Amino acid sequence: MTTLVPNRRDLLLTLSGTGLLAALPLAAHAQVRARLVIIGGGFGGATAARFLKRLLPEAAITLIEANPEYYACPFSNLVVAGLRDLSAQRFSYDSLKAEGIEFVQERATDVDPVSRTVTVESGRALTYDKLILSPGIDFRWNAIDGYDEAAAEVLPHAWKAGPQTRLLQQQIQDMKDGGVVVMSVPPAPFRCPPGPYERASLIAHYLKTHKPKSKLIILDAQEKFSKQPLFEDAWSSLYPGLIERYGANEFGRVIAVSPSSRTLSTEFEDVSADVANVIPPQHAGVIAHRAGVADMTGWCPIDPIDFRSTLQPDIHVIGDATIASPMPKSAFSANLQAKVCAMQIARALSGEAVEPTTLTNTCYSYISDRKAVSITGVYTNDGGSLHSVEGAGGLSPLNADPIVRENEALQAKTWFRTITKQTFG
Ligand code: FAD
Repeated sequence: MTTLVPNRRDLLLTLSGTGLLAALPLAAHAQVRARLVIIGGGFGGATAARFLKRLLPEAAITLIEANPEYYACPFSNLVVAGLRDLSAQRFSYDSLKAEGIEFVQERATDVDPVSRTVTVESGRALTYDKLILSPGIDFRWNAIDGYDEAAAEVLPHAWKAGPQTRLLQQQIQDMKDGGVVVMSVPPAPFRCPPGPYERASLIAHYLKTHKPKSKLIILDAQEKFSKQPLFEDAWSSLYPGLIERYGANEFGRVIAVSPSSRTLSTEFEDVSADVANVIPPQHAGVIAHRAGVADMTGWCPIDPIDFRSTLQPDIHVIGDATIASPMPKSAFSANLQAKVCAMQIARALSGEAVEPTTLTNTCYSYISDRKAVSITGVYTNDGGSLHSVEGAGGLSPLNADPIVRENEALQAKTWFRTITKQTFG
């Protein structure tokens, strides 16, 4: 295990939007008058729209987003634990509109790659020269027997931020002292690999502070998980005896739920909960399947040089919907993939060759109200596949002084402020 790369901050700055923009001959791009459509106004799509507008000021850029405003998932586990207001997670699209991006607040219902047309729910059809999809994830409803949209109103997933986040927070707050919270973690791949364990840490922090006779049981479809030594160290030192985690080999996967009795059934036994947080199995957002860019895995294969779909020309896919391993499904990844994709589209439309780039990701996770740990990866798309750069990146050190963890929590806050400013203005 390595410690944090000392020059990580410099690396992130190098990869920031300014760095990418500076590398481009803007004069050629100023002539491009293409129709560029983006579906999904999250960390990937909103960033792509803004960067394309700056790179190609004469292009017509349209962002199609189902919701009038965006609720960010990063930091939403703090809301679940009662440490942050949900309103701090909400972002508007006003800046994008002011920058000249057409904002269509509708759900895209279909994509015809042959006529290069997107249809939205009102029936309007929008044609494109290039389409970027960043629809995030959708849930595999009923992959766990009985877990459908109605069940999620009783057993919240809170894996898309917004009302679900509030619902889980409220249920935990209303639970009696001595109650049992049960979390179900799906098999990989899923959005934000360390997210369930950050959530477990913060729920444990809440229980220890407010309802110390309670406990948290994690039923995990995975045997190993992201930042495992750091989380396990935090759980034993900060919350001894409060968290019980069982991998699939011990308890079996969760295969069914009963909302009326708040029971989760694994392959081996039934577990009763006072509050159940069921994070269901996932796949790429439904529109990716409609567009024909998702394969049998449920996710979207891409060429990592420019995030072009390998299944449909003229469609690019970024963010959680992609198969981009070893890059995790994170806001950091989606935001950076958006910049790389926008830059390569601008180059291609200006008659320039696409070029390999270096990408990176850092995921911070809170382990308590004031402490965080992180993991960093550095990747290259040279040679047609995404792969990790050996010796770069790493985990926060184990057994660190508390000040190190507190500093990482401060860095996490700066990261959140920076990335949301860059994405939403
Ligand atoms: P999203 O941000 O989900 O955006 C997709 C957008 O597309 C949505 O606004 C949706 O409404 C829209 N959409 C979908 N389909 C359609 C359609 N048909 N028509 C119109 N609009 C559509 N990442 C980090 O980097 N750091 C963290 O600390 C972190 N913490 C997390 C904590 C939790 C609890 C969770 C659940 C996730 C966390 N993540 C974190 C992961 C991060 O939220 C996602 O990886 C990121 O949001 C992915 O961006 P995206 O653009 O692919 O999808």
